[in-house]
Amino acid sequence: MIIVLKSNATEEQIKHIVEKTKKLGLKPNISRGVERTVIGLIGPEDILRVTPLEIFPGVEKVIPVLAPYRLVSREFKKENSIVKINKDVHFGGNRVVVIAGPCSVESDKGLRAIARRVKKAGATVLRGGAFKPRTSPYDFQGLGEEGLKYLSEVGKEFDMATITEIMDTRDLDLICKYADIIQIGARNMQNFSLLKEIGKTKKPVMLKRGMSATIKEWLMSAEYILSNGNFDVLLCERGIRTFETATRNTFDINAIALVKQLSHLPVIADPSHGTGVRKLVGDVAKASIAAGCDGVMIEVHDSPEEALSDGEQSLVPKQFDDLMEDLKKIASAVSREI
Ligand code: PEP
Ligand code: MN
Repeated sequence: MIIVLKSNATEEQIKHIVEKTKKLGLKPNISRGVERTVIGLIGPEDILRVTPLEIFPGVEKVIPVLAPYRLVSREFKKENSIVKINKDVHFGGNRVVVIAGPCSVESDKGLRAIARRVKKAGATVLRGGAFKPRTSPYDFQGLGEEGLKYLSEVGKEFDMATITEIMDTRDLDLICKYADIIQIGARNMQNFSLLKEIGKTKKPVMLKRGMSATIKEWLMSAEYILSNGNFDVLLCERGIRTFETATRNTFDINAIALVKQLSHLPVIADPSHGTGVRKLVGDVAKASIAAGCDGVMIEVHDSPEEALSDGEQSLVPKQFDDLMEDLKKIASAVSREI
């Protein structure tokens, strides 16, 4: 349920509504937009049949929310949300943010070499997994805290924000200490305890779409994070499982365009996992920017044949350089910048 306030609603009236709804057992969330202030209510809405909020001073209208996700929806907030990571990196504005780096942090030297190249080409966020969700327990599992240290050091050295994946709530403090953005991977999109814990932090988070998740399920997972108090959420389309076997996943370009309409949260495209094939990454990255994404995440490795994970979909730095030039042109064609 969303309460739209009159444009001249006073602070006193807003306070009154907030107190009253809390007393009714609902959880109010205020969103102050440029034109209007709205209050999103979470909880048993049936109570409002007994106490109609329309009669409260300052209320213009009460809209029942049809979508099961509320705080995430455009109905709750009309304007794009801007997720600010630092003074330069803002997701959701006119600039398309480029996240790049290796799938896994493998060594400080290797990470530094990759960071130097991607930063020079225009990436502003450095990625690298330290806790890796591998299908086989015999595959490289990540360097753990050592990897996080390298990521943080190299990020600082090149003045880049950093992002890394969390797999377990027990690592939350550690990851918050070292990284600027927490990534929730496809396999954990519906790990509700993890979503709730991250929702209680103030750390920006990028929620990847589960490989078999519908758009509604994905947005409901984001709702877990927002409803626990953390509004700094990025949504990342990374491809879904379909009957098609020619590519690792089927990148859902529809999702980029649709989620931009359904939600105010920034949307990121991950064409590396979305295709799983190096020679397709660039084309899908370009298509994603044309479709309206707010950021792209690209895996880059200076020696993909030796990469400990996802070498087959990683671009070499020269390919990344060339792609950045193309991405700038596409961005400018849709009135965005990189
Ligand atoms: C990754 O970003 O390296 C990763 C494991 O992604 P996903 O969760 O999308 O598979
Ligand atoms: Mn990967």
